[in-house]
Amino acid sequence: MRSSRTLLKAAKLDVITNRLSYDVGKGVWPLPLPPPLPTASKGKKPTLLLDIDETLIRTFTADSTVEFVVRPFLKQFLTFAMKEFEVIFWTAGRDIYGACVVDGIERHLLGLPTSIYNASEIQKVVKGVTPTTDHVNFYCLSRYQTLTERNYMKYIPMTGRPLKNSIMIDDNVRSFPLTPRNGIKIKPFRFDCSEVRRKPGFSEEERINVIDVSEPNTVEAANDTELLDLIPLLTDLAEAYRAKPSTSVMRQLDYWRESNYVETDDFTKCLEGGSIYDSILGTVTKTKNDKPIPTPVAIPDNKELMKSVEEQAAALQSRFKSKL
Ligand SMILES: [Mg+2]
Repeated sequence: MRSSRTLLKAAKLDVITNRLSYDVGKGVWPLPLPPPLPTASKGKKPTLLLDIDETLIRTFTADSTVEFVVRPFLKQFLTFAMKEFEVIFWTAGRDIYGACVVDGIERHLLGLPTSIYNASEIQKVVKGVTPTTDHVNFYCLSRYQTLTERNYMKYIPMTGRPLKNSIMIDDNVRSFPLTPRNGIKIKPFRFDCSEVRRKPGFSEEERINVIDVSEPNTVEAANDTELLDLIPLLTDLAEAYRAKPSTSVMRQLDYWRESNYVETDDFTKCLEGGSIYDSILGTVTKTKNDKPIPTPVAIPDNKELMKSVEEQAAALQSRFKSKL
């Protein structure tokens, strides 16, 4: 067992709080679905779609103020992810909420320059002022870019990225049923914020200090290595892509699945509750297997289902275009 001193260090390094206040009125995301991010080498990267709540952070206030605790090792994880992937945050929350989280992550956690997805820039757009920057660190999509009729499903083809090169990490499998081979389910990040919440008048620094790492719930948070644990798998996907850009990253992920994962190829069954939805969707193995699971089987019922989904996606995209 690790000593409490070690745990104290782990928590201090990786758990921060962030306080932001923005009055943005009725926020409307200013951009259509984004083009791929340019890279320093001009080369393309596979795309990593990251859910926000309970995947990357735990929010304890989200009104006009957004305060959250970041998951342990988030800084390390995002630094790695940005190097190997085009990173897109995708929340089922509102756009301005996502923009506040972007501010906390890009400015406070990673020390990156402010981007157009930052709440401060969105606020300008809402007030009719030209944004100061068009810089992008990572894209951020919100619930307005989900299939609302389908429980705010984040339907990957709507990003304009090839499905074969896109991976989504989420603690909730609701977005996985129609693109099951692309999903990775992560254990939800739980953190009892009650200690922090009880001290509303504190400065940011004092709030950080309020997190008492001797508390059992914080010790648990410090031991949360879920993000770190995914790095070997993601490294494997990125390396396969780098070695041969025609590689399907989605297919490479098949090396990290149990054999029963082929059951997810039936999308209708994936959408139903039950064992596929509750216990198979999005699961990955801890180590890479020698052989990938078989290629997806064409299920006749999928075709009809996908037709209606494509119609919903096209209607949503045309709404965005009409706002330009
Ligand atoms: Mg979530």
